[in-house]
Amino acid sequence: MNTLACDEIRSSRPSLNRGEGATVSTRVRYSVVVPVYNEQEVLPTTYKRLKTVMDGLSEPYELVFVNDGSWDASQAILESLCDEDPAVKVINFSRNFGHQVAISAGMDYAAGDAVIVIDADLQDPPELIPKMIERWSEGYEVVYARRTVRLGETWFKRWSAALFYRVLRALTDVDIPMDTGDFRLIDRRVCDVMKSIREKNRFIRGLVSWSGFRQTAVDYVRDPRLAGETKYPLRRMLRLSSDAITSFSDKPLKMPIYIGTMVIILCLGLLVYAVFSSLLFRHDVSGIIWGVDTCALLNGVVLVSLGMMGQYLARIYDEVRDRPLYVVGSQKGFQKESPPGGR
Ligand code: UDP
Ligand code: MG
Repeated sequence: MNTLACDEIRSSRPSLNRGEGATVSTRVRYSVVVPVYNEQEVLPTTYKRLKTVMDGLSEPYELVFVNDGSWDASQAILESLCDEDPAVKVINFSRNFGHQVAISAGMDYAAGDAVIVIDADLQDPPELIPKMIERWSEGYEVVYARRTVRLGETWFKRWSAALFYRVLRALTDVDIPMDTGDFRLIDRRVCDVMKSIREKNRFIRGLVSWSGFRQTAVDYVRDPRLAGETKYPLRRMLRLSSDAITSFSDKPLKMPIYIGTMVIILCLGLLVYAVFSSLLFRHDVSGIIWGVDTCALLNGVVLVSLGMMGQYLARIYDEVRDRPLYVVGSQKGFQKESPPGGR
């Protein structure tokens, strides 16, 4: 059982969010990261179910709860669990920073050889964790849980989620698995890669896929929320979708080039037609057609120029994100391990 006292985490100096804030602890095999935002109704049950499952594995583990600026009794509940159980660790954010940032903080602090991210509301069943660990011991570095059925969610949420994954797939080059959330197990090496990526607008599922390594899925039925309400209203869902698309695709920036080129081709065609009909066939081409066609042609040129700027912007964006150039899966014959991420 892990012995790092909760006070140690509380008294550790606040980190500058560079992934260096984790307190060193004795060996931990599994870290379970749980983002929490106003989950007072579910926390006691979540803790009990997680504890039962993790105790059954007979290996040292820690439960890292990241309290993402809750204003209900979540903090008090978590801190009292921490007083009773040395496996429980609590990180309290100074305000709400969002689900993806909460998971990232959990990964920064997690000390385990395998890190499991799970929602607090029990939509992700903790009982699936042993199955994920089994696949991990077979050699997979990422084991994601894939939802076969989503119970207790509105048709709009199910439909919009399905649409989102399909649009994302069409727009990005990274193979982001469909119908998965953040409920997944990652190996220490993948966690270290995650820690090295410090993008502000994060889409963790995408980053995990981007990191590569051997990935596999375990299927599960997504239960309804145990209690409370979703913390992902439409506004937040849209924000997450836009983060996902803008983090992994530069196609929207290049779109004006395609539209502009089509407009130019059409306008030039029309212009040629107008010139031929007035010069060769002496047809009376209305002045309006000349005017509209020239305007549209110029608009096409403007669109193409915008798209060209988009190309450069995409490159600047790529540089600014500062993702590692490559990730080394394994190496042989070197004396010293090189740092992850090929920086
Ligand atoms: N959450 C969080 N910060 C937020 C929003 C949500 O830490 O700003 C947590 C929340 O407590 C839960 C998980 O992220 O553990 C997923 O949120 P939720 O269940 O509301 O999302 P949904 O399942 O409805 O998509
Ligand atoms: Mg939920």
